[in-house]
Amino acid sequence: MSQAYDVVVIGAGPGGYIAAIRAAQLGMRVACVEGWRNPDGELALGGTCLNVGCIPSKALLASSENFELARESFDAHGIGVDGVRLDLAKMQKRKAGVVQKMTKGIEFLFRKNKVTWLKGFGCFVGHEDDAYRIEVADDEVNGGQAQLVDAKHVIIATGSKPRALPGVDVDNRVVCDNVGALAMTEVPKRLGVIGAGVIGLELGSVWRRLGAEVTVLEALPTFLAGVDEGVRKEAWKRFREQGLRIELDARIAGVEVGADGARVRYSIGDGEPQVLDCDRLVVSVGRVPNTDGLGLDAVDLAVDERGFVPVDEYCRTSAPNVWAIGDVVRGPMLAHKAEDEGVMVAERIAGQDARIDYGTIPWVIYTSPEIAWVGRNEEQLKKEGRAFKAGQFPFSANGRALGSGHSAGFVKVLADAATDEVLGVHIVSAAASELIAEATLAMEFRASAEDIGRVSHPHPSMSEALREAALAATDRRSLNS
Ligand code: NAD
Repeated sequence: MSQAYDVVVIGAGPGGYIAAIRAAQLGMRVACVEGWRNPDGELALGGTCLNVGCIPSKALLASSENFELARESFDAHGIGVDGVRLDLAKMQKRKAGVVQKMTKGIEFLFRKNKVTWLKGFGCFVGHEDDAYRIEVADDEVNGGQAQLVDAKHVIIATGSKPRALPGVDVDNRVVCDNVGALAMTEVPKRLGVIGAGVIGLELGSVWRRLGAEVTVLEALPTFLAGVDEGVRKEAWKRFREQGLRIELDARIAGVEVGADGARVRYSIGDGEPQVLDCDRLVVSVGRVPNTDGLGLDAVDLAVDERGFVPVDEYCRTSAPNVWAIGDVVRGPMLAHKAEDEGVMVAERIAGQDARIDYGTIPWVIYTSPEIAWVGRNEEQLKKEGRAFKAGQFPFSANGRALGSGHSAGFVKVLADAATDEVLGVHIVSAAASELIAEATLAMEFRASAEDIGRVSHPHPSMSEALREAALAATDRRSLNS
């Protein structure tokens, strides 16, 4: 006898668990299928983001930043610190504690909202009358006996997995993906990173701050292609100053893995062959959607040529009442985009007219300085032939930034030349991840640059730089530069 639900969500990452909770809040009978196990063998909710992604990386970024500040910046504040030493085991334990608090928090929210956690991996096994049949299996749950459930609506939220580099096997000992790169038990003397994307730069920063000599090999000839050019240049300058070695236009010819390290053979463009010897190698060359074993053919669904589940703007697949959200569908692989899609789908199932403005989803790279943006950049606007005005303000002229010792970077506001509507905001600075939220809100409400300039901002605060950049983009002009 199978159990029947209004909604079954497959996957309990930020897209799936949020969709499940929202659907339950709206009065539906909801189950969420999740079979993730952590290295200790314990089943956990939260998916990649909470277990081996956003949350643990931010814990290590904070710890490693504190370590570097104590060693290099406290002196400027008149604070002498002798004998700063690293206890990596303690740092990793703290990270694990943060992760556990978050994943247990979702278990609590599921109980509170009466969402049933179906432990195991889910796959479609059929479709009858008005319901989809899903099998949930885990070798250690129910004595290995698969469970069958029926659902009127199914939300696929199975996320993504690291993209493999052909011929390079990830063992998470010498060659690591995000999982191994977050779990190292000693600081490698030399760390190689393939791919200067979000993961490569964030985790490269962690291990550099803790003492590793980090070399990043990036295939593209442009650093952070897709990011605003001014921001890109500023970030490049800062990362190089910090000692992060980044090689662009790198073509990987092969990787040899030994007991204690790896040798990467590569060339820069068509140049001479080179080698990079490293104790650990991180491969971070993008992620691919996770549809393994999902049984899509049982419900007449197929992935597209890039492996994504095709959906429309409302995350509807071509199978009635089957929805897909997050990394497994088109659009940026960002946890908050998945969350927004989860809410939209749950509300649409409940009959509401929810929708998402995909043009106002912010991006953040948690390096130091952080990089954040929302909307379009100058290159994109020029390509579109859109007339725009740009206003920029440096943190070196912001009192709060100077006082706190975080005066690197700037805010740039781009606004329509005729209407003054904000079209994009680009920030490179400490706390850019927080500052971008105001810009996102402004764009969501289709604010003009003048609107931001006329809003009272606390003084002294980093947020004043956004106001000044907005003023600089209008005829009113910046007041402090
Ligand atoms: P990414 O797409 O950000 O970067 C991958 C990089 O690897 C690119 O610069 C690409 O040009 C390069 N590359 C690809 N093949 C290569 C090769 N053969 N040799 C050298 N370089 C190569 O991917 P990622 O950093 O792996 O992150 C994966 C996804 O996870 C991204 O979509 C990202 O949005 C998401 N993520 C987001 C955050 C965040 O929001 N802060 C953090 C981590 C991950």
